[in-house]
Amino acid sequence: MKIKIIPDKCIACGLCHVHAPEVFDYHDDGIVKFYATDQQQKELPDTSSLRSAVKLCPTGALKILEDI
Ligand code: SF4
Repeated sequence: MKIKIIPDKCIACGLCHVHAPEVFDYHDDGIVKFYATDQQQKELPDTSSLRSAVKLCPTGALKILEDI
């Protein structure tokens, strides 16, 4: 599934890393990014932990763009 991050909405709470540490990393200021890329959209395996991270982001800074 394709995930989009919206850094402008991120409040640097760190919750997404708790659920999906293999996916989400942070800039020095704590704002979300994907590991190993500065792209804001990424195709990733559909996992329950990743869905939890998206669902539980308190500000809607993570979106699922499509379900395959
Ligand atoms: S859960 Fe949402 S607000 Fe918190 S760090 Fe991740 S993207 Fe940012």
